[in-house]
Amino acid sequence: METILLSAETADIEKAAAMIKNGELVGMPTETVYGLAANATDPKAVAGIFAAKGRPADNPLIVHIAELRKLSELAEDIPVLAYRLAEKFWPGPLTMILKKKPCIPDITSGGLDTVGIRMPAHPAALELIRKSGLSLAAPSGNVSGYPSPTKAEHMMRDMNGKISAVIDGGDCTVGVESTVISFENENTVRILRPGGVTREQLLEEAENVIIDPAILHELTEGQTVRSPGMKYQHYSPIAHVIMIEGSYEAFCRYVNENAGENIYALVFDGDEGGLAVPSVKYGCNGSEQAQNLFSCLRDMDEKAAKTVYVRAPEPEGVGLAVYNRLIRAAGFEVIQV
Ligand code: AMP
Ligand code: MG
Repeated sequence: METILLSAETADIEKAAAMIKNGELVGMPTETVYGLAANATDPKAVAGIFAAKGRPADNPLIVHIAELRKLSELAEDIPVLAYRLAEKFWPGPLTMILKKKPCIPDITSGGLDTVGIRMPAHPAALELIRKSGLSLAAPSGNVSGYPSPTKAEHMMRDMNGKISAVIDGGDCTVGVESTVISFENENTVRILRPGGVTREQLLEEAENVIIDPAILHELTEGQTVRSPGMKYQHYSPIAHVIMIEGSYEAFCRYVNENAGENIYALVFDGDEGGLAVPSVKYGCNGSEQAQNLFSCLRDMDEKAAKTVYVRAPEPEGVGLAVYNRLIRAAGFEVIQV
């Protein structure tokens, strides 16, 4: 199959919308990462997403909408707090897990009786959803397990020949996937996956915000997993990623002791000198690091890096999402120095 690269102009979005209506798959830019979009209510189209990504069948997809009124068409028993959060954070990087209505096929929800719904903030995504007249299932557009795509070229690399088109909507501004929450009760939400909307921001509307333990810790055997995506190895480049926690001086000392061919360091902006291996900077705060992380991890494979030592980000604000992705990219291999 030939994968066409489309622009984000209306005429091209109309072409993409026609493909979606025809049950085909399209790479869709969003503010978080590029998504692999298809009609959420068409089990055959959704099966195509799982096949193209090589995604485990029990890992549910997020359904993307462009109008708030769609929420009650797809979900039921919606808490008042969910509407308040939608009002405040949509369009934006917040996914809410709600009880699904029968129009959501089991394949879309990974066999669960709930569905994750969000309204993306990218104008091309909103236009594609509106022009198709459908709700779009769209997981991150990477091959399962690999770092998510934050540029059209990343999507092309992973999906060329497997899907109908990719819409080039530029670089993603958030750079990590949405914050996924579930509702414990009318006042309490649980963060299942950290993302662009932070715990601090959620606390402006919700009385309590629980951080699910699976965000920062490896699951132990038999532990229940509330978000199936959390149990899989994820976000990993081919290169071996090791996360290092400590000062820049201690980081340099450790990396230099382990220096060798094809060893790289991923450090903060402002970390200067002292390293015996080549380094790449991935930002100076949580938001910048979120924007650059996946692209930097993919670049490491372009450079044929064997091992990448990464300075651990501060797990605060959006940095919690960066920390969460990196600890998984590293397969929980964290070294304190
Ligand atoms: P991705 O589409 O790659 O951004 O991954 C979607 C994430 O949302 C995965 O970690 C899923 O486990 C999670 N998710 C989606 N739907 C649900 C749901 N109904 N219940 C719990 N987690 C969900
Ligand atoms: Mg993903």
